[in-house]
Amino acid sequence: MSRSRQKSLTPRQQVVLAIFRQSSIPLTPQEAWEAAIRDSPGIGLATVYRAVRILTEAGELRPVEIADEIPRYEMASGPHHHHFYCRKCTRIYEVHKCPPRLDDLVPQGFKMDDHSIVLYGTCRSCLGDRATTD
Ligand SMILES: [Zn+2]
Ligand SMILES: [Zn+2]
Repeated sequence: MSRSRQKSLTPRQQVVLAIFRQSSIPLTPQEAWEAAIRDSPGIGLATVYRAVRILTEAGELRPVEIADEIPRYEMASGPHHHHFYCRKCTRIYEVHKCPPRLDDLVPQGFKMDDHSIVLYGTCRSCLGDRATTD
């Protein structure tokens, strides 16, 4: 992230960006707002939505769109990773492993320049919840 671009952000936008920077999982604007009001009481949900849109257009955030879920957002500058979607709690987790030999999947004569992978299933805490209630 360039320093000059950050300087043009409003204080509220910087608060919102900091929420995403500190989060280990992608967040909806609603979730970002719930975190933001702890540090900035009085910040409005509409303000957070607008900040997310502006930060996305500025290339600071990127959307993570999975299944029928409303988009979450994460830092665009983060390290390469994939996502695990828990069908039970609908949270999205980061996966920091990359499968080898993806080139084998590319059709002959095509050139791959990027990839994204979403794993679907049940997260550990949801599996644990089920184990104790079943
Ligand atoms: Zn879960
Ligand atoms: Zn990868």
